[in-house]
Amino acid sequence: MLCRLCHSDCGSPLLDFPSPSIVSTTAILDAPTTAYVCPSCGHIQKPDFAEVDAFYDQSYRISLDSGDHDQLYAVVNGQPVYRTQFQAELATRLLDIGSRMAVLDYGCGKAATLERIRQNIPGITPAVFDISSSYKAHWDRWIAPGDQAMYRVPPEWSGRFDRVMAHFVLEHATDPRDVFSEIGRVLAPGGKAFVTVPDVFGNPGDLLVIDHVNHFTPASLSRAATESGLALESLSDGDYRGAYVAIFVKGEAKACPTGTGNIQAIAEDWRASRARIIAHADAHAGADVEIYGAGFYGAFIAMLVKDRQRVLHFLDRNPFLQGTTLFGIPVRNPDDVLGRPAHDAPRTLYAGLNPAVAATVMDGWCTQSGRDPLSIIYI
Ligand SMILES: [Zn+2]
Repeated sequence: MLCRLCHSDCGSPLLDFPSPSIVSTTAILDAPTTAYVCPSCGHIQKPDFAEVDAFYDQSYRISLDSGDHDQLYAVVNGQPVYRTQFQAELATRLLDIGSRMAVLDYGCGKAATLERIRQNIPGITPAVFDISSSYKAHWDRWIAPGDQAMYRVPPEWSGRFDRVMAHFVLEHATDPRDVFSEIGRVLAPGGKAFVTVPDVFGNPGDLLVIDHVNHFTPASLSRAATESGLALESLSDGDYRGAYVAIFVKGEAKACPTGTGNIQAIAEDWRASRARIIAHADAHAGADVEIYGAGFYGAFIAMLVKDRQRVLHFLDRNPFLQGTTLFGIPVRNPDDVLGRPAHDAPRTLYAGLNPAVAATVMDGWCTQSGRDPLSIIYI
């Protein structure tokens, strides 16, 4: 396929896994996962969805089912920190959002982050745009009708905004250059944009999320923005776990980051992990198993365990996931299975966690639960 940023031929796939695949909402899709890397600019990408418009409009209703649902970002001193609050504080700080600013949340979904910012800074003028009409009822509670846009950004919004945020939008975009072009168009001169995208090098599972059709490197993200008159002011892989946070200023670009990460090594790790989990699950078919983690990594493991009714439960620290089901399997609080007699525990526990943190989390769990560390299978 051709690179979405520079139109070079990407050649043969970086990664090509047969069906099934996994969607960012942890649904399983009957489709292969194929990824490419551009030999010219280093951008990593997947083919478009066949019916991408329908998919986003009808199906991609993240966090809509419950008004209180939020994703867990971290547990600090035993207390959960949720994504909305974390994003709101980060964007406010990095964008220096002040009273009387016009702030657009581009590709916003429910716009929970912007709503939180407005609670903290009531003087801002909030505006929202999404390629779906699913969220209108949420917006109507607190956003003026003229400050809402669906499907297309109004022509009269050109140069209107002091600040634009695009939280985890560009990884879904079939034309990321067009998104940057629109952001550049609606920003006032000197206005700033806050952009987050997954960092596939910090969170390698992102390479397997089939609806994340772009995986940016700092160089490819900056390149895509520069063409739209947006200069990179800062880019960090440390402000937001598993993501790049970039601040762009409307104006002439100076130096851009260069270099590509070692995506080939990540693809090779996934080939090995996938084969190892399938081999282990097949060799222990019929035995009960547990999966620690009900997010992407846990879902990925469950997808590979053919005998899925043998998965007793997922264990997850996120209180909003506890009590729900994933693929019909209950999600439980890890503390609920403490004190269970050792002979009563399944022999196998899969660690469905980001490999970067999995060993630390599972070491803590083994100490707490008395589990044999040798019973844990890592990705
Ligand atoms: Zn390219």
